[in-house]
Amino acid sequence: MSNRDWSARDLAVLWHPCTQMKDHAALPMIPIRCGQGVWLEDFDGNRYLDAISSWWVNLFGHANPSINAAIKHQLDSLEHVILAGFTHEPAITLAERLVQLAPPGLSRCFYADNGSSAVEVALKMSYHYWRNIGQPAKTRFITLGNSYHGETLGALAVGDVALYKETYAPLLMVPVTVPSPDCYLREPGESWAGHSQRKFAAMEAALALHAHETAAVIIEPLVQCAGNMRMYDPVYLTLLRAACDRHGVHLIADEIAVGFGRTGTLFACEQASIRPDFLCLSKGLTGGYLPLSCVLTTDTLYAGFYDEYVNQRAFLHSHSYTGNALACTAALASLDLFERENTLSRNHALSAQMAAATAPLTDHPHVAEVRQTGMILAIEMVRDKPSREPYPWQERRGLDVYRHALTRGVLLRPLGNVIYFIPPYVITPDEIRLMAEVAAEGIDLATKH
Ligand SMILES: *Cc1c(COP(=O)(O)O)cnc(C)c1O
Repeated sequence: MSNRDWSARDLAVLWHPCTQMKDHAALPMIPIRCGQGVWLEDFDGNRYLDAISSWWVNLFGHANPSINAAIKHQLDSLEHVILAGFTHEPAITLAERLVQLAPPGLSRCFYADNGSSAVEVALKMSYHYWRNIGQPAKTRFITLGNSYHGETLGALAVGDVALYKETYAPLLMVPVTVPSPDCYLREPGESWAGHSQRKFAAMEAALALHAHETAAVIIEPLVQCAGNMRMYDPVYLTLLRAACDRHGVHLIADEIAVGFGRTGTLFACEQASIRPDFLCLSKGLTGGYLPLSCVLTTDTLYAGFYDEYVNQRAFLHSHSYTGNALACTAALASLDLFERENTLSRNHALSAQMAAATAPLTDHPHVAEVRQTGMILAIEMVRDKPSREPYPWQERRGLDVYRHALTRGVLLRPLGNVIYFIPPYVITPDEIRLMAEVAAEGIDLATKH
């Protein structure tokens, strides 16, 4: 069976995520036969460097021997069991370790099975807590412009990326949306911290106006990943934590994309020394192996639900695969790797190499900015550098970069006009250079016409 054979079978029966299927009349589908480390291999023997960690989930490479072994071992004793009334070792051990690793005070873990569901859990829990303690008017949420929190209806409602949201607007609850502290929009000469701090005024005003009807503020700490990898300074988080406390509003940190070392620290919140009331984790949680998510929260929140059954305060939310044993086992193996391989400090060197490899692009006539937070690096391609006028989205210049990169054996998946790297942590300096070189060629090609 070749690529062509598998593609034909695929296109006859599958409907792919985030895809206009008609594109595949011209754009080949790529069937992957196997993965090893940062490399994916198709059925024709072509190899692709997975520069985006297969949608930001993979941390320690494909077919990682340690994670593979842990899952195989677990498989022989327990694959899955109902998590209501029953429990199991991987779920317990993982919760213990997450509590230990998360900002102090996050002492309870509620499992779900994907990122959007974790966001739903946090939103419902926040609202329900206020209701349980006699504040039922707190039913709204405050969110940032350009934010993304998933695509189920509740998660979509508190996001702000028009591409995913606009069509479904009539189905969605309406949050209060505050302009993003996104530092791409800073004034010339303004520092990231200065810009993010200045942008906080709008959040402060929204809280002053809406706190009485607001359950929580939800944010993606430091990097708005799906919103074109826009970044901001930790000072915004510090100010937000203090303001949420002052106004009696919860803070939900959606670290589904940025958690597990992407921003340089294990959790992005650490860079502002804050503890959110809810910490949502998924994606890298299992090292990119299996779907799992977890919402960590505080004793105070937990106590708001703890009561006699007949008082009807319990959080009655469930997903069938909640706390899946194989997924928890993969997560534990991934956390072991962080410890054993000293991943966070090794990543400092990799981040520096990513910066060095892309530094020349800063001077490219169609690159407005090369920005980086830890292991996330993004390149903003524009039509006009001085005015930062973007290319019209209809031209799909990012797709030119995608196509070129594939011919050179690199999987890049630009968000509109933004080319970015979120590589697995097992990437080598040579592979970083290849990734940067291919991105630069792709940008040349895409901006020539
Ligand atoms: C990916 C993502 C989600 C949604 O997670 P899924 O598992 O895709 O549902 C939520 N928030 C952020 C910040 C994400 O990047």
